[in-house]
Amino acid sequence: MPTYARLPVSFVRGEGIYLFDSEGRRYMDAIAGIGVNALGHAHPALVAAVQEQAAKLIHTSNLYHINEQEALAANLTGVAGMESCFFGNSGAEANEAAIKLARLYGHQRGVDKPAIIVMERSFHGRTLATLSATGNRKIQAGFEPLVSGFVRAPMNDIQALRQIATNNPDVVAVLLEPIQGEGGLHPADTDYLQAVRALCDNQQWLLMLDEVQTGNGRTGSYFAYQQLGFTPDVVTTAKGLGNGLPIGACLARGEAARIFCAGHHGSTYGGNPLVCAAANTVVNTIVNEGLAQQAAQRGEQLRAALARELADDDRVVDIRGRGLMVGVELNRDCGALVGLALQEGLLINVTAGNVLRLLPPLIISETQVDELAAAIGKLLRAYA
Ligand SMILES: *Cc1c(COP(=O)(O)O)cnc(C)c1O
Repeated sequence: MPTYARLPVSFVRGEGIYLFDSEGRRYMDAIAGIGVNALGHAHPALVAAVQEQAAKLIHTSNLYHINEQEALAANLTGVAGMESCFFGNSGAEANEAAIKLARLYGHQRGVDKPAIIVMERSFHGRTLATLSATGNRKIQAGFEPLVSGFVRAPMNDIQALRQIATNNPDVVAVLLEPIQGEGGLHPADTDYLQAVRALCDNQQWLLMLDEVQTGNGRTGSYFAYQQLGFTPDVVTTAKGLGNGLPIGACLARGEAARIFCAGHHGSTYGGNPLVCAAANTVVNTIVNEGLAQQAAQRGEQLRAALARELADDDRVVDIRGRGLMVGVELNRDCGALVGLALQEGLLINVTAGNVLRLLPPLIISETQVDELAAAIGKLLRAYA
């Protein structure tokens, strides 16, 4: 079904930060499957892990113990400072798990119609519950009735949350992205997030972070909250975790870690041996090779280089982001840049209409960052 307006290209092979089409033309991949290919394309360690595991065992069932799943859960909870983990197959499923977990938490505390606070301009996925949580009417329109039990709030406005706390006894959790990716690269302020943490503690609400896009080294630490001085009760992730193998994870700690019991949730494929062996290799590579720290440095370098390249362009309103999650906001819609960049052998994305978004692989080199900034400069100069 034509659910995507696709660009007129398809790729047959990839290597590092490059993709190649059927004519052998090379493209610099500065969007990495929307932040999925953190290790780039055809990373040798990942290829080897997938080949080895595929030859041994691809799928059994969650009816049985799965060694690769238990190893990944131990690894990921250790890296995250969390205690337990549920595996699904996508970001939306990771968030569905978090939403169900919050509702069960509410019911266990005697709240009959538990509600979750969600943000304006947020994005949490395309399933019914997650599109209902999403703060974008375009994504919801035509799919009513929406799932109830979400209360919308403006981001970076702690007063608005305090007001909801006073007026709405049904609230049991807050769900938000540390940096809104789809919504236009809008970061939540650090002091705001710390105040949300304190409010959640006061109200006994679960603080649930959607790190589907910001997780797995993207913003300069394994998870974005690890730069913020607090730990959430629940964190969801996907995208970079599998580098293209479909996996999503919902991690929890404290009381939240012990909400789900046998029968509460499930997934036929979730956490199967193949995807978990792959994701374990991804986590180990990010951690052992210091790719999150490298993303912090390369991100700084990229923003500085873009600032130099675009210094004379008065259409540029802001260059922002953290680590290798970078946005260039223009004062006008710029969706046409994507097709122009493609013609120049560069893969980028535009989100929220006027924000050029870059999510290059974390393995991008210093030289390649300079090349990318130069290519963006050239692109914008050609874009009248
Ligand atoms: C991409 C994304 C999702 C949805 O992930 P899918 O794997 O497409 O279901 C959810 N939340 C955020 C923040 C995302 O960026």
